[in-house]
Amino acid sequence: MNLQEYQAKELFARFGIPVLPGQVARTPEEARSIAESIGGTVVIKAQVLVGGRGKAGGVKLARTPDEAFDHARDILALTIKGLPVRQVLVAQAADIARELYLSIVLDRARKLPLIMMSSEGGVDIEEVARTAPEKIVRRNVPLRGLRSYEARALFQPHFADPGQVGQAADILLKLWRVFWEGDCSLAEINPLAVTPEGKVLALDAKVILDDNAEFRHREWDTWRDPDDETPGARLARERGLSYVKLDGDIGCVVNGAGLAMATMDLVKHYGGEPANFLDIGGSSNPDKVTAALKIITGDAGREGAPVRGILFNIFGGITRCDDVAKGIVQSLEQSPLSVPLVIRLTGTNEDIARQILADHGLGATTQMDEAVRMVIEKAQEVTA
Ligand code: GDP
Ligand code: MN
Repeated sequence: MNLQEYQAKELFARFGIPVLPGQVARTPEEARSIAESIGGTVVIKAQVLVGGRGKAGGVKLARTPDEAFDHARDILALTIKGLPVRQVLVAQAADIARELYLSIVLDRARKLPLIMMSSEGGVDIEEVARTAPEKIVRRNVPLRGLRSYEARALFQPHFADPGQVGQAADILLKLWRVFWEGDCSLAEINPLAVTPEGKVLALDAKVILDDNAEFRHREWDTWRDPDDETPGARLARERGLSYVKLDGDIGCVVNGAGLAMATMDLVKHYGGEPANFLDIGGSSNPDKVTAALKIITGDAGREGAPVRGILFNIFGGITRCDDVAKGIVQSLEQSPLSVPLVIRLTGTNEDIARQILADHGLGATTQMDEAVRMVIEKAQEVTA
């Protein structure tokens, strides 16, 4: 789950990272009254989950509450990289003498957290990585954690003032706690700003939470923005299905992540494009099948290309084929499909499943290869 900047800053503040006070507004009027209560110059910032908001006109300084109203109105009318701006952060503005970059990410190759720091902050870090990679300092963090002398050593060459080394190191140690205790896969500050008075501050915040740790963070629920989740993704999360929407038109309902990957590979192999990754998991539950079909068909049209064919690929082990068949039948009775359906199932209770399907005029194959080719062929007929 990606956090909005204002949420990420709340998290930072909880761990003691210096951020400037601010509040989120959904209307220009709200923005004006927040600006009034903060007093002085404020910055109005689009709350959308993409970078480069500044360049897109989504970050503006306002010296008066009326100016805050105007900027908020303009920014709330923007769509940045395809995302409509629904809320803005109105925060006390800082004067900036210097901008650095600081982040901690999960380095999957080294299987360790990785600190990235650059004195070229404020700008797109991908751009720095492309044009001047030597300007990004990278340090893996051992699993014992980060020591304060290590944090200081990282900043020593980049600040003349030892007081600022201390402030930056303190922020890094706190960012480490945000990352580690907060179960992040990314915690980023860009810019890490230095004011003319020499104070070091986090002026922007980007956090990606590791969804695998959701079970131990009750508070994450309050951060989930219903606007940021598609109906399909929400239903999948609620029913415990692993679901990723893709660009193709062959909907795939599979049990087990490995089989799901293999199915997608095979769809591609035969010239098709999978519409999704969807793992209904190992449990036998007709309701999961119903939800899966709802997700695949309900999402179509609203997000990306419509699905032109649906493939069930079930290898019955713990998952019982008859339960899947019941789910399919149940679901079709509730809402008939308008696209071809191809079912492959084999394994536990396969015969009962086949009978249930046959009673409802449906057939099933045992061969994965055949099923994949068949669904692609039928989908093409739909297109033609
Ligand atoms: P991003 O473009 O989406 O990364 O949004 P940022 O929050 O990083 O803002 C972009 C740029 O706006 C920053 O690099 C700063 O230069 C500027 N900016 C953001 N907040 C302030 C502020 O409080 N005061 C001033 N003077 N500039 C700011
Ligand atoms: Mn930024």
